[in-house]
Amino acid sequence: MRVHTTSLKGGINKSREFARKGLAEFAVNVGTKCGHDCTYCSTGATLRFHSSFKKVGESPFGTGYAIVDADTPVRVAADAAKHPRARGLVQLCTTVDAWAPEAQAHRIGRRCLEAILGQPGWTVRVLTKNAAVVEDFDVISHHRDRILVGLSLTTTPDKSELMHVVEPNASTNVERMAAMARAHQMGLRTYAMFCPLLPGIAGSPGDVEELVGFALDVGAEEIFVEPVNGRGPGLKATEEALSAAGHDQEASAVHAIRTEENWSAYAAQLPETVQRVLRRRNALPKLRFLLYPKSLKEVDLLAIRQDDAGVRWLGEARGERWPAQYTAAQRRQSRCHRATLHSVLGAFLFNRLMPALTRSLSWPHGAPARTPACCPALYGSGAATGDPSRGILATAIYFAEQDRAERGHGSRWSRLASWVNRDSTRSFLTAIASARLLPTSTTSFRPRVIPV
Ligand code: SF4
Repeated sequence: MRVHTTSLKGGINKSREFARKGLAEFAVNVGTKCGHDCTYCSTGATLRFHSSFKKVGESPFGTGYAIVDADTPVRVAADAAKHPRARGLVQLCTTVDAWAPEAQAHRIGRRCLEAILGQPGWTVRVLTKNAAVVEDFDVISHHRDRILVGLSLTTTPDKSELMHVVEPNASTNVERMAAMARAHQMGLRTYAMFCPLLPGIAGSPGDVEELVGFALDVGAEEIFVEPVNGRGPGLKATEEALSAAGHDQEASAVHAIRTEENWSAYAAQLPETVQRVLRRRNALPKLRFLLYPKSLKEVDLLAIRQDDAGVRWLGEARGERWPAQYTAAQRRQSRCHRATLHSVLGAFLFNRLMPALTRSLSWPHGAPARTPACCPALYGSGAATGDPSRGILATAIYFAEQDRAERGHGSRWSRLASWVNRDSTRSFLTAIASARLLPTSTTSFRPRVIPV
């Protein structure tokens, strides 16, 4: 294993992604390449543009090496002491593993725990695939109310050796289960993370039954489940590793989900299997099935939505403007909040930048003496839909209409406005007017087709 070092910025960072997943509000990461070398790892795809790979001369998708920052605990300690009122749940780690061999060499996991928990107000979610975390249970037991311990489980004990082919430097699943059981015996708080449940290895009802049974036996407070990430070369590498080790059946099951359709069907089947097992055991409220709707085909998305108890939707489905879990009332409210925010930004934009913009467009009759008061609202409402160009467009049309009304002919604003599909623009403006997102002065504004 080639071990490189790097120097990262910051110690404890906000993580919107993991907050969305319900895992943690903050993240600590101890490097950019984890030495566990799991073939399906998606970190390379996530961090592929990180400068550390170029500096050490390695490919983000390569294997046989690790990149670690041994000073992480120092930076974590500095960040932990800051912001006494903005503290919360930290995940250790989100993109690498603080107990991977290269991190163990510097006792990074333990030192990070000490640094974070040395300050009040912080809580920690430990996530690792290495049973070496047991050596730090003494620290954890001192702060047992403030730490959740989780070791990712990816298969049942009978396939532990097989799974070791694709997780070559991590502890086996048997060792991880022993570590979870030890945590439970010591009275530590635990949660379960089944990620990823690969087809042919851990996705069958029998496998799920066994894993869920184990999680409940060790007192898991929550059960997170995630299908394997299809991004990057992970699935191909997993198939090749299984095939090279003579596990042809499992390799072909992984090969099958390398198409979008089959991946979607596999990801749609898993929640149903897990829900069925948890329902039978009266433990469905513990389920947090993490799913990106945009990765699913419509037919599978609709099938899951028939019964999505325990599913945590991450982001929007294809063609959807709003996160799938939003109710109609939340969507309306969210639109209003975004409109307000963008109106403030719009006011700044128009008051500061509009004179320069109108000059550069060679406004034929000189720039308007004063930006109409409704422009920020127009811009804000357009931008609030998630597409700022609509805000600019709405304002451009407004200017064009004003021009025609005041001067009897069009201007370059008209040309700008005509570049877009007029029908969709009109229906958009009508919609925002009827949603009462604009002040009264602008709701009376009715756009019409503008001749250039
Ligand atoms: S333990 Fe996690 S971060 Fe490390 S290689 Fe495996 S999947 Fe990647």
